[in-house]
Amino acid sequence: MILPKQTRLTPDQLNEVTHIVSAFGCRIQPIVGALRTIYAIVGDERDDLMITRLEGLTYIDRIDKIQSPFRLMDRRSDLATHRIRLGGVTLGDELFVIAGQCTIDPKSPSLLYETAAAVKEAGAHVLRGGVWKPRTNPYAFQGDTKSLDILMEAHRRTGLPVDAEVMDEAQLRLALDAGVHMLQVGARNALNYSLLRAIGRAVAERDTVVLLKRSLHMGPISEFISAAEYIASFGNPNILLCPRGTAPALDGYRNHPDESITPLLKEKTWAPVVVDPSHSVGRASYVPACALAAVAYGADGLCIETHVRPAEGIGDDPKQALTPEMLAETIAQAQQIWNLRRAARVTAPVA
Ligand code: PEP
Ligand code: MN
Repeated sequence: MILPKQTRLTPDQLNEVTHIVSAFGCRIQPIVGALRTIYAIVGDERDDLMITRLEGLTYIDRIDKIQSPFRLMDRRSDLATHRIRLGGVTLGDELFVIAGQCTIDPKSPSLLYETAAAVKEAGAHVLRGGVWKPRTNPYAFQGDTKSLDILMEAHRRTGLPVDAEVMDEAQLRLALDAGVHMLQVGARNALNYSLLRAIGRAVAERDTVVLLKRSLHMGPISEFISAAEYIASFGNPNILLCPRGTAPALDGYRNHPDESITPLLKEKTWAPVVVDPSHSVGRASYVPACALAAVAYGADGLCIETHVRPAEGIGDDPKQALTPEMLAETIAQAQQIWNLRRAARVTAPVA
């Protein structure tokens, strides 16, 4: 919708505007009001170049876009009825839980096997395990490709689908070839559009689910949904949106908790929201409260770092991971909030 600075466009201005939009396959329909005339763009108005050209005209006040830039991820898109199923759960129907270690220790495979069995027992549906890790310090442990075998062995032992982060195309290929069920795009890569494209292309032919973390530096919610749109645009819409805290950190927390964006996401997109309270608040003692808040805000699931013996964890584990007992307790409490939400539909107006 074009809003001119004056009450209406002059015939010359209307000609120029018509000329621009027709080059993009659209036409102009004036809507004549008592005080001013506005101009609807009829056709697909989402071409950024067309909008930029129009916005460059000095006599135009602004362009209001009516169509969503998210052709696939928008709540009003044809995909709104799409359902994602993993680990025996259809997202949205039951509380969905991903749990496991931040980082797999390639020297101690049995730790992951114990963690896997324990998170399954606690009620998790997917096992997470960091094979390759994005680390701030280049000398810190970066993960090890050998851990991929350990992760897949944990899957064979428990039957739980597994989730691992990939940071480049080589890791993506290895993870898919190994049969990883869920690919994680980490907070540091959620704005890496070439990786998002590569993931979109690679998962297009498969059922692989993508857990897309929110970048620490993302601005408007639309930036987060656009990142998902990058992946979906290649044909696989199995994408879960994962708020995990943003920068700057709230004093005392690892990041700034952002589970409260859940209702905003749900208003704009049909994609399930799976909140990661672990990286958000960063301390095991704060994680359960953040997890419960996320479910109260309407989250479809949780992604919680859990270690059978946190003190023996590497990566984030020692201070951040829950024990399996804490996980079981957190899931039980989250389930109560989920049940209340379902029964009352009070806290999550758009479930
Ligand atoms: C992780 O899940 O261990 C991780 C590194 O997450 P994030 O990308 O959210 O920091
Ligand atoms: Mn971690």
